[in-house]
Amino acid sequence: MNVSTADCCAEPGQKLLSVEAGLTRILDAVPVLARTEQLHLRAALDRVLAETVTAQYDVPSFANSAMDGYAVRSADCNTQGEMQLQVVGTSFAGAPFNGRVERGQCLRIMTGAVMPDGADAVLMQEHVHRKEDQISFSTGSVSAGLNVRYAGEDTRSGDTVLEPGVRLGPAELGLLASVGVAEVRVTQRLRVAFFSTGDELCSVGVPLEKGQIYDSNRYALYGMLSRAGVEFFDLGVIADQRDSVRDAFRQAGNMADLVITSGGVSVGEADYVTETLEELGQIDFWRMAMKPGKPLAFGRIGNAAFFGLPGNPVSAMVTFYLFALPAIRKMQGQTAHDALLFEARCETTFKKAAGRAEFQRGILKREADGSWSVGTTGVQGSHVLSSMAKANCLIRLPAENAGVEAGQMVTVQPFLDFDY
Ligand code: AMP
Ligand code: MG
Repeated sequence: MNVSTADCCAEPGQKLLSVEAGLTRILDAVPVLARTEQLHLRAALDRVLAETVTAQYDVPSFANSAMDGYAVRSADCNTQGEMQLQVVGTSFAGAPFNGRVERGQCLRIMTGAVMPDGADAVLMQEHVHRKEDQISFSTGSVSAGLNVRYAGEDTRSGDTVLEPGVRLGPAELGLLASVGVAEVRVTQRLRVAFFSTGDELCSVGVPLEKGQIYDSNRYALYGMLSRAGVEFFDLGVIADQRDSVRDAFRQAGNMADLVITSGGVSVGEADYVTETLEELGQIDFWRMAMKPGKPLAFGRIGNAAFFGLPGNPVSAMVTFYLFALPAIRKMQGQTAHDALLFEARCETTFKKAAGRAEFQRGILKREADGSWSVGTTGVQGSHVLSSMAKANCLIRLPAENAGVEAGQMVTVQPFLDFDY
């Protein structure tokens, strides 16, 4: 991993790094990990595929009925007026009929049952009148192939079913099962160690003393890392002491592919963090042209990549989603996907200074006329975690933008985009 310190930017007054440039540097610097494993389909949910899967069979593997009804010879049905055919048997899903449908005959057939020899169309049972072993119906529109699902219509034997880099969701698991795949090769879970820094932090379950706050970042991080499908190690709260900080970083760097901390990355504050990271790895302290989340540290500790997220809870979450999550996806071998962005009418006026991108917490909703609108969740301080909990999206105000008036269109990114 090569982290350049070129034009950036720990000293106050130095240039800010744009969100796009920061992300590009991060993605250029982190490696794709090569470890893979073979898993049963169920265990592979939310993993990233590490092989090309090709179909060994046609899907469906035989022509079958798309309806409950009667399999007929379309050629028998092209005279005008009322027709009669004799029912010669039944084809059930899983229990085919072994004979042949001859002229003047038909077969009772269920959805998914094998099409019998001789027949080439299926009449819906609702369009047919049955009396004993005779059916009658009005002809006119029975073409060959009506209500028939042909072999290979979904997937053909030899077709590529899924490519490496796909994250396996419910549909992908179903698709793999449909072509008879019981096991797949996936990338191993990324190992991520994380801890919080700060003497003011208290873990939940213990009463607060004066001046203390609960460590919320580790819980938000736990949630975000779980959704990202990684294997994680929660190393707790580390006191602002030289030895503790050094031990924690050393342990984290030895056990993980990625180390994430929160707090202690503001300029001038993080003496032990800076000192330790310079000793054990390579680190840049960046001032990002964004709000929330201006301070961000990135680099490596030993062989692990490292993110030092800001301590403020909203900043920690936003910087995780914008920078750490794309890095995790790349390291786990996931193919990059375009951000899920919507244009919505903004219900709130936002004033901002040009020069820093802003990520406001918003509530996106669909109006009665079908258009999308988005409003603020209220107070937007980077310490106001309730603004994240109320929100379902980020409102993305670009750096060059000097704010928006209510009624103007803005770009929003649903939180859903961060869940896969
Ligand atoms: P820092 O980045 O360490 O200067 O912290 C910035 C702000 O975030 C301070 O108000 C900290 O108390 C707060 N903070 C830091 N770490 C956490 C955490 N793990 N949970 C909640 N708040 C935190
Ligand atoms: Mg701190």
